[in-house]
Amino acid sequence: MTRVYNFSAGPAMLPQEVLKQAAEEMLDWQGSGMSVMEMSHRGKEFQSIFDAAERDLRELLAVPANYRILFLQGGGIGENAVVPMNLVGRKPQPATVDFIHTGSWSGKSIKEAKKYCNVNVAASSEGDQFHTIPPRDSWKLSRDAAYVHVCTNETIHGVEFHFTPDVAGETGGAPLVADMSSHILSRQIDVSRYGVIFGGAQKNIGPAGLTLVIVREDLLGQALSICPSAFDWKTVADNNSMYNTPPTYAIYIAGLVFQWLKRQGGVAEMEKRNIAKAALLYDYLDATGFYSNQVAVDCRSRMNIPFFLADESLNDAFLASARARGLLQLKGHKSVGGMRASIYNAMPIEGVQALVDYMKDFEKQHG
Ligand SMILES: *Cc1c(COP(=O)(O)O)cnc(C)c1O
Repeated sequence: MTRVYNFSAGPAMLPQEVLKQAAEEMLDWQGSGMSVMEMSHRGKEFQSIFDAAERDLRELLAVPANYRILFLQGGGIGENAVVPMNLVGRKPQPATVDFIHTGSWSGKSIKEAKKYCNVNVAASSEGDQFHTIPPRDSWKLSRDAAYVHVCTNETIHGVEFHFTPDVAGETGGAPLVADMSSHILSRQIDVSRYGVIFGGAQKNIGPAGLTLVIVREDLLGQALSICPSAFDWKTVADNNSMYNTPPTYAIYIAGLVFQWLKRQGGVAEMEKRNIAKAALLYDYLDATGFYSNQVAVDCRSRMNIPFFLADESLNDAFLASARARGLLQLKGHKSVGGMRASIYNAMPIEGVQALVDYMKDFEKQHG
């Protein structure tokens, strides 16, 4: 068996230890005689898996007691509608929501939210081709916003927030909502600074099909009447994420990833490793003229690193020889072009080193 280094933006690599344990437990989970996939979500076996996953996530992110963790479906894109349906009801209708536009993903959130509220784009880096994050003091927030939306890691453009914005003062107490799909658990965060954190699992948590929402309790119970019950956070919270059948197998794998993270030393340790991994690649990109990354240095993502060959006619050759070396999924998103290396928690530093070694060899050959 040969495992490759998979630089996909998502679904993405999972820790090998997790996949092995899942394989070993596939036919018989801990003497139950069943696969986790076959278990009733209301049985005691699955309940124990669920409780451990929630407890471990709460511990890993130090989620305060006044926040609920919801295990949902629908993905980050689903949340683009679910978030406004749950939060705009805090204000008289039609409410205004503030957005910070920093790339494709916040752009999608803006487009979807327009179905449910007035959108105020309080700051945008579109004029910089999304190579920056607009500095906090340039944001034009609304006096009475229902909430403020940020995407703290733009998976396609490769920009990441390295600060947590304060928005309450200027907006009359609006909660900060963050799409953390592609960097949740990659770095330490202060959950208490956010009203809502959401993310699809398939980037840095586990398999596709699971969506996490971490929501401050006082924000529950204000959903618009058009909000489907299965996506009304209060209904979901009151039923401990079992109002409808949750994505049981995805929750099980996410739970194994949480246990793996704890064995590694938790989020603080992952953050150290992620800083080292990203530095390895950025340092090389900055040292050569053969490749480049165009993102402002203080806004660069540790997770998703887009880069370009100076001679784009070599793109196909670059990807083909990478593939031959077991370095996969390096093609950039079609909207940006070039290359992209996604190096989430499960990518070991050896994988990034193998990529840099390959890039150096390719440069020697073609430079
Ligand atoms: C991948 C991604 C999404 C979309 O997730 P889906 O599961 O496809 O809905 C949303 N936001 C960000 C930042 C992402 O990286």
